[in-house]
Amino acid sequence: MRDQKIKAKQIRLQKILRKNRYGLALLEEEYMQVIQEIYSAEYYKELTDSILAEEGITTQEAFAEDLYAKLNGLILKISSIFERAWDRGTEKVMDITAATLLLQKPQYKVTLQLLMQKQFEYIKNISDQTREVIRDEIKNGIIKGQTYDQMAKVITSRAKDLTETRAKLIAQTELVRVTSEAQEQTLQYNNIDSYIYLTAEDKRVSKICWKNSKTKGNKSDPYNVYKVGNGPLPVRDSHPRCRCVIVKAPDE
Ligand SMILES: [Zn+2]
Repeated sequence: MRDQKIKAKQIRLQKILRKNRYGLALLEEEYMQVIQEIYSAEYYKELTDSILAEEGITTQEAFAEDLYAKLNGLILKISSIFERAWDRGTEKVMDITAATLLLQKPQYKVTLQLLMQKQFEYIKNISDQTREVIRDEIKNGIIKGQTYDQMAKVITSRAKDLTETRAKLIAQTELVRVTSEAQEQTLQYNNIDSYIYLTAEDKRVSKICWKNSKTKGNKSDPYNVYKVGNGPLPVRDSHPRCRCVIVKAPDE
């Protein structure tokens, strides 16, 4: 009897997580493409050239393309991805039985704009990290006695790999961030005053998420019940690539 209850609970939990994830993969893919449009092979070639010149390895003057200008050109694309992720979040507010609640959509302008600003920071930071990688590779290249062309080739492919990894991490993380903020705002807008924080309850759940979810941070503990607006949110109060979700607290 007890086993059956636990099993039913696990099935509901899986259903909630699946519903929360559903449709996000496509948006993630789109977001990754935007990042990769900014960090193209040409961009890395230019960046490598300019660093080689800075390091005094080549004498030709080189200028890396203005990242800001490029980023601004993609504002509309990023906004559109974020608006869709937000809408999706407002439509996917569930309760503990995995039922989607029929709720009014909140006004999102301010929150969404704040979240958008953060995106630019994240995307821009990739560039700083890549610069470091390029400098390291140049030093390696010199030790190995590589030619300029050999170095440029290695660097471009390494930087591209790094961007792909970073782009994926940013996309996965940021879309969960928008989703959970949208869900919280929707609860608030509909005067639902408390929620719980659900994890996948598997081996990959982080310590911080267990603590956000359960009173003493252990699987067997009851859920923490949070007042909407006063509790933790996935990503914002956990970590990148968080898989958690908030749902309306069960009625007493
Ligand atoms: Zn989590």
